[in-house]
Amino acid sequence: MRATVIGAGVIGLTTGIRLREAGVDAHIVAAEPPADTVASSMAGAIWYPYGDSAGTREAAWGRRSLEIFTALAQGGTPGLVVRDMLELRYEPSPDPWWADPALGYRRCEPVDLAGGYADGYIQQTVAIDVVPTLGVLEGRFRELGGTIELRRLSRFADATAPGELVINCAGVGAGELAADQLVHPIRGQVVRVRGEPVDRITMVDGGPLGYAYVMPHSDECVVGGTRQPGVWDRTPDDAVTEQLLETAATLEPGLRNAEVIGVKVGLRPGRGEVRVEREGDVIHNYGHAGNGWSLSWGCAETVVELATAPR
Ligand SMILES: Cc1cc2nc3c(=O)[nH]c(=O)nc-3n(C[C@H](O)[C@H](O)[C@H](O)COP(=O)(O)OP(=O)(O)OC[C@H]3O[C@@H](n4cnc5c(N)ncnc54)[C@H](O)[C@@H]3O)c2cc1C
Repeated sequence: MRATVIGAGVIGLTTGIRLREAGVDAHIVAAEPPADTVASSMAGAIWYPYGDSAGTREAAWGRRSLEIFTALAQGGTPGLVVRDMLELRYEPSPDPWWADPALGYRRCEPVDLAGGYADGYIQQTVAIDVVPTLGVLEGRFRELGGTIELRRLSRFADATAPGELVINCAGVGAGELAADQLVHPIRGQVVRVRGEPVDRITMVDGGPLGYAYVMPHSDECVVGGTRQPGVWDRTPDDAVTEQLLETAATLEPGLRNAEVIGVKVGLRPGRGEVRVEREGDVIHNYGHAGNGWSLSWGCAETVVELATAPR
């Protein structure tokens, strides 16, 4: 069986890998290569499934993806490191659905809450340095015999011959291809800095900092974040960069006066609900919003089930 995967972000690459491992002759067609993708290469990123998805398919996809990223990190894969994550809250909050004592989950002690926070917790997760990790995924896909052709498509029929499978992993571009009005961009700006070493991820949502995080990768940190639904403009906003640098110094004082390495603006593929579904010879895998890295492997395995199930 031959399949054309549209998209070379984390969703297209993980899907392509799993399809080839299952014996499907999968190849990728993408407008941008992995390192230039508008969402995957611009992300923070960490394994952190946003939202209250306990008991849903998303929770299963998230668990499976954590399992795989953790094994890859523990196997020494470049770009992936298991680290502690501190999540701080201005209001008391329940445990997240994915709280796991095996990953060191614990509620914060008062000593962890300096800075006026009311609540919080700590758990290990996987920090994903996205560009090297996309390189690893691309390498694995090519090693399995997959090819990547750079070409923008305006309809599924241009991707493949009749009767062959098309896998729609086109991120925010998936909406136009599938005529799905629900798909929209969620703009996010991040700044990459180098300062004193940081070994723990810190996240805050709400309060004076708004939605904010510091994610360390090797000797640099990615600082975010912003969420602007419906905004396509990818021009960096200097005022937001200044605000992010202040956020970095507030969350990690060793980052005050840190060197700015770069500013990136990405478009998360928003939809309201992730779409992993078969429609004739097209299998959709898109709409992961701010969770694409966290759900990727699980979704890819569901695509393989849909592609190989008897019909
Ligand atoms: C600032 C920021 C921070 C984030 N942080 C996290 C995080 O910490 N954890 C997490 O899990 N997720 C995070 N995300 C979300 C995550 O990055 C996305 O959900 C994920 O990257 C989506 O991957 P994708 O492959 O669907 O899309 P993309 O990476 O955008 O890839 C889409 C691919 O489809 C191709 N394509 C599109 N249209 C066409 C067309 N018409 N023809 C041919 N090819 C086409 C593109 O060229 C590209 O190759 C973050 C995102 C941003 C922007």
